Amino acid sequence: MSEEMVKDEAMQIMGMFQILPRLVVFDLDYTLWPFYCECRSKREMPSMYPQAKGILSALKEKGIEMAIASRSPTSDIANTFLDKLNIKPMFVAKEIYSSWSHKTEHFQKIHTRTGVPFTAMLFFDDEDRNIKSVSKMGVTSILVGDGVTLGAFRQGLTEFTQNHNSIEKNKQVWRDKYSGKPTSSESETDKD
Ligand SMILES: [Mg+2]
Repeated sequence: MSEEMVKDEAMQIMGMFQILPRLVVFDLDYTLWPFYCECRSKREMPSMYPQAKGILSALKEKGIEMAIASRSPTSDIANTFLDKLNIKPMFVAKEIYSSWSHKTEHFQKIHTRTGVPFTAMLFFDDEDRNIKSVSKMGVTSILVGDGVTLGAFRQGLTEFTQNHNSIEKNKQVWRDKYSGKPTSSESETDKD
């Protein structure tokens, strides 16, 4: 599938959702590209997973912001590769450094830089420990098995919508609780 075809399909997928994230955050190694950049040389020409570029282009066209959260210890190589792939200007924030935290620190910084709430973010990563810790912050987080694909993208938007709906439902429950509106169980007792 060509980059243009992937982009068109990603646009169609986004068109099926009423609620979309404000910011999509990507890991680098084994999410956008199939290697650890610390094991590569800056002189090489990197390549991405086959569907990654088309998905980035679709997000760009849709006006959805993008960021990088990577624990790579070689940010110089990562930045060189982002440059060579012509995707560097697509990202509003790039947090690339090794850290003891499983990316919670990266996300705090991304939030500070962009002002986007965690619940309006969607994140793709290939490591379960990062997915676990970042999803606890309220970010919809998707584990990828073979890099970012249209399938993972669709799954991400589906889970994002589900999380959004359950947050809205909880807000409604609390609004009802404090507006004095009787809940269904209370009206049952009123009848006795
Ligand atoms: Mg990775």
